[in-house]
Amino acid sequence: MPSESEIIAWIRDRAGSDRIRKLSRMIGLKPQAGSGVVVGLGDDAAAFRATSGFDLLVCSDLSVEGVHFRTDWSSPEQIGYKGLAVTVSDVAAMGGHPIYALLNLALPKDKPEDFFKMLFSGIFELADKLGLRVIGGDTSSSPGPVFLDSMVIGECLEGAAVTRSGAKAGDLIFVTGTLGASALGLRLLQQSLVSSAENDKVPTWVRDHAIARHLKPEPLVNAGHAIGAAGLATSMIDISDGLSTDLSHILTESGQGAMLLAEAIPISEGVLAARDAGIEIDPLALALSSGEEYELLFTARPENRALLEDLVDSVGSRASCIGEIVADHGLKLHRDGVTEEIRVTGYEHSM
Ligand SMILES: [Mg+2]
Repeated sequence: MPSESEIIAWIRDRAGSDRIRKLSRMIGLKPQAGSGVVVGLGDDAAAFRATSGFDLLVCSDLSVEGVHFRTDWSSPEQIGYKGLAVTVSDVAAMGGHPIYALLNLALPKDKPEDFFKMLFSGIFELADKLGLRVIGGDTSSSPGPVFLDSMVIGECLEGAAVTRSGAKAGDLIFVTGTLGASALGLRLLQQSLVSSAENDKVPTWVRDHAIARHLKPEPLVNAGHAIGAAGLATSMIDISDGLSTDLSHILTESGQGAMLLAEAIPISEGVLAARDAGIEIDPLALALSSGEEYELLFTARPENRALLEDLVDSVGSRASCIGEIVADHGLKLHRDGVTEEIRVTGYEHSM
């Protein structure tokens, strides 16, 4: 783990503007991952010491075979990696930094012993990358499907947790990265069970990219933590259920409405290439509904726009401004001079 001064130097190297320098001082307050463990793995419970000046964030996610993943599509490593990634993403969406993880796993007796080891090697691949320490968990046999439950404990600066409820009329709406590839990947996987026609049409890079995006998502820890530490976002959520559904969660919790600009919504290049290759998809509809993207959706005052865009850029991602929070309830989309209401249908995990 780099020291505070190393982190600041690193950000300075890559950004260079005065504004980023000011923000990097705040980001320099990143907790030292895992440094507070008093009792780690192997005892009845783990013990760790909370860092003074930080609040703890705790969340868990359950992944079930046949609902959230299939063992014929995903390698055990991918199941482990994604099982942890989705929980880490929730900590990032609160503006926090993940520090500890606890994993519970139930496996049918007929799974080879290697399955367990490979699944945990996926978990440790992500944990090592993030400096996240596994401090506990449990294993059991399962009479049916594989179950993986991951709990993550993170930290954010005291009082700086970014919730879903702070968006106000006039705030701008931002999303990181591009959208749609995860849904395309799931569709190509599902289609491949029926026929190879769609998979044969799309270029290999599109297929590989979309499927990897679905099976092995990368949680945006640096962007989430930087946005949280800067204290400039009025609300934030990660995109697990689709842009329109997750934005509607912010709107409900904040008691506001929103107007999205169709042309500003960043659509995955792979999705556009798939459409150009003859796959029957509406790229915009896919970007609005694609779940399990794990990009960050947040709101901020207009005067902080450039600062936030630079900040997200400095941690290797990109933020696009896609619309505005309005006082009128409901979610609307402005497209080709016409405004229409978006019906939010929610997202069902389906295999
Ligand atoms: Mg979430």
